[in-house]
Formats: sequence, structure tokens, C-alpha cells
Amino acid sequence: MAQAPNIFGKQYMLTAGPTPLPPRVSQVMAEPILYHRAPTFVEIYARVLDRLPLVFQTRNEVLCFAATGTGAMESAVANLVVAGDPAVVASCGKFGQRWAELCDAYGAETVHLEFEWGEKVDPARLDEALAGVGRPVRAVFTTQSETSTGVVNDIRALNEVTKAHGSVLGVDAVSGLGAVNLPQDEWGVDVVVAGSQKSLMCPPGLAFASVSDRAMALAAENPGRRYYLDWGRTAQGQKQDPPDSAFTPAVTLFRALDVALDLLFEEGLEAAFARHALLARAARAGIEALGLERFGPDDENANVVTVARLPDEIDGAQVPKLMRDRYGVTIAGGQGHLKGKIARIAHCGYYGAFDIVIALSALEMALRDLGHDAEPGSGAGAAQRVFAEAGEIPAPVSG
Ligand code: PLP
Repeated sequence: MAQAPNIFGKQYMLTAGPTPLPPRVSQVMAEPILYHRAPTFVEIYARVLDRLPLVFQTRNEVLCFAATGTGAMESAVANLVVAGDPAVVASCGKFGQRWAELCDAYGAETVHLEFEWGEKVDPARLDEALAGVGRPVRAVFTTQSETSTGVVNDIRALNEVTKAHGSVLGVDAVSGLGAVNLPQDEWGVDVVVAGSQKSLMCPPGLAFASVSDRAMALAAENPGRRYYLDWGRTAQGQKQDPPDSAFTPAVTLFRALDVALDLLFEEGLEAAFARHALLARAARAGIEALGLERFGPDDENANVVTVARLPDEIDGAQVPKLMRDRYGVTIAGGQGHLKGKIARIAHCGYYGAFDIVIALSALEMALRDLGHDAEPGSGAGAAQRVFAEAGEIPAPVSG
């Protein structure tokens, strides 16, 4: 199908990373670069390292790497997995599978408990899988927000099961951190990893691993076969006063994160969770009003990415293309075997109510272009009603 040029000119992005940046975050990155040992940068570095644990809701040192989210995942595997020993992965989508690929790459005897894409990881089945290994399992890896399907797993329950077997849980919260509550210390989760380009409202390039003392001790028992990603080395630098780094920190991204954290804490973490919940509720209502089925379980916690199953009678792969090329609204389609079957509207990070209205409007217009019978304004109208009923609409701090 020939693509008409973008008829509205303006571009909007509702993708789960990179996500849009607040203007103040963009602006600070245009300032002159700082030498990483200069007092001005060290002050910023210290301030960011002091405040990151508040986002993870932990007293751990949050270890920072110049990498994408996968780099933080790899650090967890590189520090916890022992070649030849079992590692358990509980997955329900593309990013969960990545844990298994990483464990294989580090020579683990990977036990991969796979759930259908669109289902949640079942804690009872994880329990059975751990019982069935027959040898002690150091680490279990799973995903909080499975961005490929919109599913948000019950990390609290999965952690309880993991702990009951004496293992540590490594959680990929790359897209969920800051959008859906994950109080790491309260729940006793040993390892939570994340990246800068989602709810933290920064560009890609910083990866974080919040590691408990227990997980640090396990890593120390298993030295070797890692260098840059060694947790001990990074922790040693960060814990100095003032903090230091064995490697050049991504100075520009730290400046951006310093400003993004100002904005996040000005809004408040709880308020940010409530905002994501409301945006997701409105997106879900809009999708239903468009006559589409929602993909994944009904879940009030699935507040990172809202996913619609596309009607069989249209060419689903055209939906995100039309939305982007004709209407200037970038969302994501399905990955792997879900390509052409689902549309994913992401709303983690710097998003407000009108972003959802815009995304639903563009979705509706693209669907109508492809012959799906949707009443004009139905999806956007349903979202507006959710916002109207909510009364006060939480908004991100734009800065
Ligand atoms: N895990 C999840 C849940 C993600 O959404 C992503 C990125 O979209 C990743 C891991 C990988 O992160 P990155 O692409 O930053 O390496």
C-alpha cells in the first residue's frame, strides 16, 4: 500500500523506549561536556547515586553502567551464574527469553520455564520447576514488565517462591521501574535491573543494577570471567566519598538523569505510579471502545504498555506503519510471532493524558483506513471519559 505523507506534520512517540524527553532533560545535555573528575561532575554523580536508590526503593548501592538495559541484565548473569550450574529463567515474552539466552551464553545449565506470550509467569509453576531441578539453584531470572506483551508479573509472589528455595531473584524492571510499584527492600528482592530510556525519562545509555548484600556476596564467591560488568569493581568506586568510577561515566547522561530525577521526585514516585495507572486505564477503555480485544490478562497493574489484538480481517502490520507515516504517531507493533497481530501503545515515562488521546485517535484513523469499522472518536472519547471521571488528572512535571 503506497504511504501518504504524514498529513499532520507533528511527530508523537508512544514507544517503550526510547521515550520522549522533558525539555529540561534535553536542554542540560546541550551544556558543555564535563571532565568526570572535575568537582562539578563529581557533585552531579554523587547526587544521582544518592537518589537512585529512592527509585528502586532500596538501601542498596545502585550500580551504574554505560550500557543499555541488556547490559545490566548481562551484569546479573555475569555475576551470579556459574558455568555448568543450573540457572532458572521464568519467561513470558521476548525479554524474558533474553535471560535464557544470557544464561546459555555464560555456560549455565539453563532451566527455562516458558509461558505463552500474553500470559503471566505462574508462581506455582516456578515452585514446581525449582523443586524439579534437584540441585541448589543460585539464581532465578524473570521480568517485571514484559514489554513485548504488556504483561506485568507478580514479582512479590515470584520472589517469595524463589526465596523459599534459597535462590536469589534477578528482576528485569527495564520498562517497569518508575511506572509500576516494585518496593525492592520491602519485598526482599535481591537484584533489580533497569535502563535510563523508559520511565526515567532519559536517553538510552545508562544501565542500573540494584544488588542486595546477599547477591553481592554470591558474586564475590564466583569471581572471574567478567571485568567491566563486575559488580564488586563498580560498587567499590561508587562507595567512595566522593564517589569514583573505575571507568569514564557517561557524563552527559548523568547530567540528564540528575534533571530527570528532579522532575520525578517533584512529581513524587507514588504520583507517577498513579499517573501510569490512569493512562493505562484510559488506553484500555479506548481500545475496547474501538471494538478491539485487549491482549493479555485483565490487570490493573499492567500500566506500562497497553496492547490491542488487531482484527484478523485487516493487515495488522500496516497499523503501526500507517500511524507513523500518515499520522505521525509512532507506536510499536508485535515482535516475533506476534508481528502483525498486536499494536502496543506504550506510556512509561514522560506521558500525560493527551498522549493517550492522540495515540487512540491515530489508531482509530489507521484502522478505519484499513477497513475496520470504528465510530470516529470512539476510542479517544472513551479515554476522555476515563480522564473526566478521574477528576484531577495527574501530569508529569514538564520542567
Ligand atoms: N527488558 C525489557 C523489559 C525491555 O523493555 C527492554 C527494552 O525494550 C530490554 C530488556 C532491553 O533493553 P535495552 O534495549 O535497553 O538493552
